Amino acid sequence: MSSPEALAEHRWQALVRAYYALHAPETDTQARLEAARWRSAHRDFYDTFLAQLEEVRRAASVALQHAWAPYSHFPVGAALLCTDGTIWHGCNVECSSYGLTLCAERVALGAAVANGRRDFVLLVLLTDTDTPVAPCGACRQLLHDFTPQLLILAEGIRQGRTALWFLSQLLPDPFSGKDIWERYRRSTTALTHREE
Ligand SMILES: [Zn+2]
Repeated sequence: MSSPEALAEHRWQALVRAYYALHAPETDTQARLEAARWRSAHRDFYDTFLAQLEEVRRAASVALQHAWAPYSHFPVGAALLCTDGTIWHGCNVECSSYGLTLCAERVALGAAVANGRRDFVLLVLLTDTDTPVAPCGACRQLLHDFTPQLLILAEGIRQGRTALWFLSQLLPDPFSGKDIWERYRRSTTALTHREE
C-alpha cells in the first residue's frame, strides 16, 4: 500500500468482509464463500480488523448505557474508529428544549475532533431497537465533511440485526465545503478585477 488513501480503502474492504463473515445468513453461501476466501488470503488483516470491530462495538455499547434520553426514551450509542486506531464514543444528550438535543454521532465526532482526530474509518451505531437505525440527515452531513467514504455499521441490539452502509450511499449528493470555497474564490476574483 503506497498512499494513505489506498491503505484506508483496504481497511474498509477488510471490515466489510469481516462483517460478512460475522453476519451473513447461512443460506447466503456466496457471501460466506467470499469471506472465507478473503480471510485465508489476508489472515493478518482479518484478525486485526475483526478485533478492532469488536473494540469499537464495545465503546458504542458503553456509550449506549450512558445515553441521556429522558424525553424520547430512545437511547443511542456511537463510536468512531479513526485512521490512527483510536476510538471515540458518544451518546445522545437530550434537552428539555428539544431542539438543543445532541445526537450520539455528533457527540462522538466532537470528542474525536477535540482530541485532534479528523480522519475516520468506521462508525458503529447501536440503538435499543429490533432493527438497525441509520444516522439522521444532520449527522450524515457533518460526518461527510470529515470522511465522505465513512463505513457505518448500525445494529438494533434487541435482536442483533445489523446494516452496513458507506456514508456516500446515505448521502449521495452532499453539500460540500468545496461549494463555499468556490463561491469565495469567485467573489474575491471579482473584487480584485473591480479594483483594477
Ligand atoms: Zn443525528
